[in-house]
Amino acid sequence: MATIILPALPFLPDALEPVISQKTIEFHYGKHHQAYVNNLNNLIKDTAFFGLSLEQIIMRSEGSIFNNAAQVWNHTFYWDSLRAPGQQTPDNEVHKAIISEFGSFEGFLEKFTAASTTLFGAGWAWLIKKDNKLEIAQTGNAETPMRKGQKALLTIDVWEHAYYLDYQNRRPDYIKEFMKIINWDVVNDRFLEV
Ligand code: MN
Repeated sequence: MATIILPALPFLPDALEPVISQKTIEFHYGKHHQAYVNNLNNLIKDTAFFGLSLEQIIMRSEGSIFNNAAQVWNHTFYWDSLRAPGQQTPDNEVHKAIISEFGSFEGFLEKFTAASTTLFGAGWAWLIKKDNKLEIAQTGNAETPMRKGQKALLTIDVWEHAYYLDYQNRRPDYIKEFMKIINWDVVNDRFLEV
């Protein structure tokens, strides 16, 4: 069956605590992400999109089909970017590229934090690779860098549903804590991909 599936999380539901609670995972992954998957499968049934890959649907669709497809992809990419807190930031290739691009790792954190904090309303902040350079980007609602020909390396979901149960209206606190659960090994693997 060529239906779109909800991929398994790469960690246990409580693994990101205390940064992201199991309760948030249960709603954000179990309800929101699942709903985008269900909506998309309902929308593409009996259309030319049925049987296409998620990426193909994202590149070719507009409106509700695009919104749900991109949200499925963005959320899977977000979960895959995360790991339990308390681990070292490895001195790997993407780390070196970040220092070369932003002057220092702290310089990157400042700019990524600013992009995440200032995004108005719902959306995503990203670290992307474009023309072999690193950039920080923002996308509103479901928009995704793939549609602009950009390679995503890392994202933070700043829709309220990502943080409201744990941080209520304190988006800056969520962003600050989020920096402790980035899986830099995964980001490095993405950076090294063509
Ligand atoms: Mn979300």
